[in-house]
Amino acid sequence: MRVRFAPSPTGHLHVGNARTALFNWLLARGSGGTFILRIEDTDRERSTSASEQAILEDLEWLGLGWDEGPFRQSERLDIYRAQADRLLAEGRAYYCFCTEAQLKAEREAALAAGEAPKYSGRCRDLSRSEVAARRSRGEPAVVRFRVPEGGDVAFLDKVRGEVSFPRAAIGDFVLLRPDGNPAYNFAVVVDDALMRVTQVVRGEDHISNTPRQVLLYEALGFRPPEFAHVALVLGPDHTPLSKRHGATSVAEFRARGYLPEALVNYLALIGWSPGGDQEVLPIEELARRFRLEDVGRSAGVFDEEKLAWVNRHYMRLAGAPRLAKLAAPFLRAEGMVVREPDASGWAYLEKVVGMASDSVDRLADIPRRLRFLFSYDAARALSDPEVQAVLNEDGAREVVAGLARELAASERLTSREAFRAAADRVKRETGRKAKALFHPIRVALTGEAGGPELDHAVPAIDLGAQLPAGSGLSPVVGCRERVQLFLEALDRA
Ligand code: GLU
Repeated sequence: MRVRFAPSPTGHLHVGNARTALFNWLLARGSGGTFILRIEDTDRERSTSASEQAILEDLEWLGLGWDEGPFRQSERLDIYRAQADRLLAEGRAYYCFCTEAQLKAEREAALAAGEAPKYSGRCRDLSRSEVAARRSRGEPAVVRFRVPEGGDVAFLDKVRGEVSFPRAAIGDFVLLRPDGNPAYNFAVVVDDALMRVTQVVRGEDHISNTPRQVLLYEALGFRPPEFAHVALVLGPDHTPLSKRHGATSVAEFRARGYLPEALVNYLALIGWSPGGDQEVLPIEELARRFRLEDVGRSAGVFDEEKLAWVNRHYMRLAGAPRLAKLAAPFLRAEGMVVREPDASGWAYLEKVVGMASDSVDRLADIPRRLRFLFSYDAARALSDPEVQAVLNEDGAREVVAGLARELAASERLTSREAFRAAADRVKRETGRKAKALFHPIRVALTGEAGGPELDHAVPAIDLGAQLPAGSGLSPVVGCRERVQLFLEALDRA
């Protein structure tokens, strides 16, 4: 089995295309086959090398490595030329000198008459001598395919079943443009044939191109591959997923903090099911189970909530060291990480990122959960109505005062046990317990009315306060200092 992914480098990698790449990759991996990457960059105006670079990076990030390529169509122009010459010599293609203006007028006339536009065939039967003369004068010419007359062109699609098209509906189409660049349908057939592609798996938007491609296989004497056109990925309103719906590219989902394995696993589930009762499966297992026959005909809706659910699963599996590495850029963007952390900085991040990741959907949400560590601000805390509500409870201020006395005298609370012992002493001193004890402690130490469990949050604060200056992290104010700042702000308020 030889399959390929053939993106046009004219923008970011859309998640729909990423799914096409994934299906091909799964087929290749599941069968010990070959996954070929081909860059379809013959549209010189719209193709950019920045886009090509971004697509390669996105594929690598997703873990969809390729076995052959990347081949670039722009570097294969001689190959298309040679195949076009062959068709010209055999009379299966011809030079066409029609101008843009002529073609446009014909198109408009057809539309006005309520007919589907189709090339008129004006240059189909020019004499050899006329063609030679006009070419030697340098008149611009395209090479057009002579569509054989009569009958249907049919193929069996692995997803859509039997597809058939009357040849009469297909006008003679362009193979090579005057500048020598091939048209998509021609380049794709030449490449798929010469690269010995056995299965063409691509988006349904190409199904109307396939009859032309089948005709070209016949004319060139190549055996056509198997085709499978997979339904497009839709937005919630059941139109193809586009900018109007929000994020569409792999890069955007990466920036939102989804893990590559989560995006891969989720994309595989759009329009396909691995069977059994488990949907969250490693990519190797997906590859083992993937079969084109099981890909549904109907389009799948992109559901970010489900993606988030899959992502939570993979964040739990990721392990602290990897999670810290993955979260660091997001923390850096928020100023919590200021430069490449040293060993103490990484060790600390591993601890606190684990604490935050339990309750978020995406890496991008982690900084918000860790804000209490790096930006303690007592005045801001007091302006929060929820914090105010806690302080208005009976005895809350006594708890804060008791906590301040307790912490002034004790070591830093770098463990859950140390925190529990300190809280116990405040409890004995103030006679407050449960919520009446822990809510005031929380607002004074974290500056927030909610957040991670105090058993984790408090040691995280005091471990942060002990980080050396070169840790690479933004400084963390310790509990003892926090409660003093809180009392001072209360006095001022
Ligand atoms: N370059 C085409 C696209 O990006 C590839 C179509 C195909 O797979 O044949 O849509």
